[in-house]
Amino acid sequence: MATWDTTKYVQECDKCGKKYNVTKYEQPVREKGRFNCKCGNELERWNGGVDYTFTEAE
Ligand SMILES: [Zn+2]
Repeated sequence: MATWDTTKYVQECDKCGKKYNVTKYEQPVREKGRFNCKCGNELERWNGGVDYTFTEAE
């Protein structure tokens, strides 16, 4: 049985200051992706072993 680690935190864009609720999942799959803030600044990039979800924080 695999144990998946989930981490939640708030990330703030260092360009425009917008905040996002981030959930990071550590999982044994090869997910690849990136997340850009609405202003276009890249907040996260990943390649394998993790996946993320981003939701806007008010
Ligand atoms: Zn931004």
